[in-house]
Amino acid sequence: MFDNDGFDVAGITYAGLFALQHRGQESAGIAINREREITLYKNTGLVQEVFTPDILSKLKGRMAVGHVRYSTTGESSVLNAQPLVSRYVKGQLAMAVNGNLSNYQELKHRLAWDGAIFQTTNDTEIIMHLLARARMKTGRVETALSMVMKELQGSYSLVMMSPQKLIVCRDPKGMRPLCMGKLDNSYVFASETCALDTVRAEYIRDVEPGEIIIVDKDGMRTIRDNCPEPGTSSICIFEYLYFARSDSYIEGMGVHEARKNTGKILAETYPAEADLVAGVPDSGIDAAIGYAEGSGIPYGKALVINRYVGRTFIQPSQEQRSTAVRLKINVLRDAVKGKRIVLVDDSIVRGTTSARLVSMLKEAGAKEVHMRISSPPFLWPCYFGTDVPSKEHLIACHHSVDEICKMLGADSLGFMPVERLSEIVPDIKCRYCDGCFTGNYPYTHE
Ligand code: AMP
Repeated sequence: MFDNDGFDVAGITYAGLFALQHRGQESAGIAINREREITLYKNTGLVQEVFTPDILSKLKGRMAVGHVRYSTTGESSVLNAQPLVSRYVKGQLAMAVNGNLSNYQELKHRLAWDGAIFQTTNDTEIIMHLLARARMKTGRVETALSMVMKELQGSYSLVMMSPQKLIVCRDPKGMRPLCMGKLDNSYVFASETCALDTVRAEYIRDVEPGEIIIVDKDGMRTIRDNCPEPGTSSICIFEYLYFARSDSYIEGMGVHEARKNTGKILAETYPAEADLVAGVPDSGIDAAIGYAEGSGIPYGKALVINRYVGRTFIQPSQEQRSTAVRLKINVLRDAVKGKRIVLVDDSIVRGTTSARLVSMLKEAGAKEVHMRISSPPFLWPCYFGTDVPSKEHLIACHHSVDEICKMLGADSLGFMPVERLSEIVPDIKCRYCDGCFTGNYPYTHE
């Protein structure tokens, strides 16, 4: 945020991070700039755990950047928590990035051989090193950032603060979302529009792929040196399927609507004779509503979620993940007893969640369970910031749909057809990356 009105900057940044908690639950941080001095507070844990009222009351300033993290590159420790703050020749810099550099190893190797010392294993530090070096060749930090962007490959939605400027940019393929809003005369940027709504900022527009936006005391300006031909960028399709919150809009397309579209397509492609359509809370709910609308089978609740448990997948170990499903979800016995149920979830990775849910429904008396999955099967890893593991752990890499159905104990199983993904996002004016389903990635990777 860049404040021109006297808002409580730390409080607003906190509220924005709170709205984005679903994007990362390992750590949270805020760096705040008070008259060119940056103060940083970050720790492992949820936003609410990290920032007590006492800590927030000590964070004062007119400009701030914040971050919630779930790890793809680098282990989850407080050292890897973001924002990162460094002091370089021109003063302090704070930076936070959502995404993953696919040429991370190559850049790190080059910097290490140039004498760089690293304190973290995350790629934000690589960008900061490159930026500090580029700044020696040019008079402005934003020009340095534009130079650095030419060397980066992969996904990055980046927010940073120099002593006097708030600067944001999106990678030229626009793989991760980033949007801009205004709160009176102040500027707010966030990964998703749900954060703008939460802080009552008016949505202005998405940051364009490749665009750099600079906000300082003279107002806002942009650099478009790295912007590609319009329509050629590749937003991550998994943002719509799972990652984003369903009340957000990305590239002009509502996430809820996109998810409902998957349900309608599943109802067409994999009809079922059933009494009830239910969604796996939270990210399967919207697709289940779409399936119910498409099939005419009533939509209802079969599962209850304990809201105080985080997203199960984000737990790093398999043991933690299995326990978390049981901690998180329980069955509504009366709603499922004696019924044939269509259960819609957003994805199957290892199969842990679906298998457990099918067995819980059957134990509670469900007659049949027909699983419908609103993502196509995961067949490839993601190198661009979604934690899709290596092929070894992807159930669809080793088993046919029929085999998976048996392993889950389901009565039938249908995945979103990959060739119909474009129909779920009819309103976007760009391409999308479906590399985790097809192996076609917009960048090469190491
Ligand atoms: P699994 O239990 O391993 O089959 O994982 C599937 C569950 O994890 C689904 O219910 C999704 O909601 C969630 N999920 C899938 N992909 C991801 C991801 N990349 N990051 C976080 N959660 C995910």
